[in-house]
Amino acid sequence: MSRTEIPGSDVLGPQALAAARRCGVEVDAVTGEAAHRSPVNGASLGGVRWSSPAEVDTAVTRAHEAFLAWRRTPAPARGAVVKRFGELLTQHKADLGELISLEVGKITSEALGEVQEMIDICDFAVGLSRQLYGRTTVSERPGHRLMETWHPLGVVGVISAFNFPAAVWSWNTAIALVCGDAVIWKPSEQAPLTAWSCAALLDRALVEHGAPPAVSQVVVGGPEIGEELVDHSGVALVSATGSTRMGRTVGPRVANRFGRSLLELDGNNAAIVAPSADLDLTLRGVVFAAAGTAGQRCTTMRRVIAHRSIAGQLTERLAAAYARLPIGNPMAEGTLVGPLVHGAAYEAMTKAISRAESEGGRVVAGGERVLAEAAEQAFYVQPTILTMPDQTEVVRSETFAPLLYVMTYDEFDEAIALNNAVPQGLSSSVFTSDQAEAELFVSAEGSDCGIVNVNIGTSGAEIGGAFGGEKETGGGRESGSDAWRAYMRRATNTINYSGELPLAQGVDFSV
Ligand code: NAD
Repeated sequence: MSRTEIPGSDVLGPQALAAARRCGVEVDAVTGEAAHRSPVNGASLGGVRWSSPAEVDTAVTRAHEAFLAWRRTPAPARGAVVKRFGELLTQHKADLGELISLEVGKITSEALGEVQEMIDICDFAVGLSRQLYGRTTVSERPGHRLMETWHPLGVVGVISAFNFPAAVWSWNTAIALVCGDAVIWKPSEQAPLTAWSCAALLDRALVEHGAPPAVSQVVVGGPEIGEELVDHSGVALVSATGSTRMGRTVGPRVANRFGRSLLELDGNNAAIVAPSADLDLTLRGVVFAAAGTAGQRCTTMRRVIAHRSIAGQLTERLAAAYARLPIGNPMAEGTLVGPLVHGAAYEAMTKAISRAESEGGRVVAGGERVLAEAAEQAFYVQPTILTMPDQTEVVRSETFAPLLYVMTYDEFDEAIALNNAVPQGLSSSVFTSDQAEAELFVSAEGSDCGIVNVNIGTSGAEIGGAFGGEKETGGGRESGSDAWRAYMRRATNTINYSGELPLAQGVDFSV
């Protein structure tokens, strides 16, 4: 099913600029030459001005100066700024949702969900601002005490991907700010207005609380602007979200200057569907995770590993559900599948389908471009299911589009092995009513991913847990739990109150 109401080329730009203005962006100051297109209709949203390398350098200097003051601000007072930021996000939820839909093509409920996630992480960070705990431990020496203290790192560079154009920055920023760091954001080149709008709201919160505004800054541009942050010795931590291709460059370059990096990269997420699974629930879980966000989440389900006894029935039901998916204008009521981000994403999808077919796959649902007449420069596709004889090469790589490969297994161990036999390690799930299978899947012998779910899809994580994945996903953890530690440095302190100077390990060094 497809929906044809694709807006004309002249409406979206003014709509986007109006939403950005309402968030406090001085639109004239950010207007420039760089092309900026909406995936909704492929038309220009208006040109934007990209930052220069010199401006990145200035931003780092200003951020460092602001950090020196910010680190002296008590953490709960830093939390108060984040609390205000969360309130402003709540007030401007609709504006930001609209910008996210316009710039990256998310359907309205998912765009609003992304903003809600930002509000949630602010709540979390406010609580955290009173809980930056260190540990104490016993000393082997009399009259001594050992303790750990946590201190802010300095300037954090955040490089983010198009598909979460705001939330990923907020996961990093809300936490980094309460930890006492300054943040420079290099957003996706696809979503500068969303970025400036988020930053304008944070600026307002900082100014209202008398905090140094330069603790939050935005630099805009392509990979070369990201690389300025990557190579800058003044950036203590580079938190980069995007493709493994990007991470392969960023990781070694930051390591080469002994900086820290936090990488959130490709996912190739699978669900194992056992014979005991509740198929109604499984169906809903798989369709949202595989077709939602037009397959453009890092946690999108890309593989189903179904027990041979139910694979046929499951595939048939999935294909029927896919045929009912409303595809079209992401801001129209009822749409569930919006556009791909750009033509290159469409090309990657068609290539992957051809390759899968050459590796023995068979398309059982979708596979076609739709609405091409209504929006020649926009790329709407039917989410696609392919049955695969095996986990072939194309299945082992991430194609950032709504492509779901269905494979079969006979023994549960074989299913776990298939789940793990890909280079990426982000998210995974099992649908089963067999408790032993569920426990095995989440055990050390089970899934090797950073996110391991039972009876729920691979996408849609909550902010309370640490988010991230293993292997080529990069190993970073962001958001909840103790992910805050990545934004701080740890000092181990030994306090001697004995009046003597006994040496550790009984060493005698008397002179
Ligand atoms: P991308 O790698 O093309 O770009 C991501 C960001 O990195 C952009 O801001 C880009 O300008 C910047 N960049 C690219 N090369 C760079 C370089 N050499 N140095 C510095 N910066 C550089 O990714 P994308 O197309 O925007 O997003 C889709 C990808 O992101 C998918 O692979 C998806 O799985 C991944 N992703 C991962 C997570 C996660 O948490 N694991 C979350 C969201 C997206």
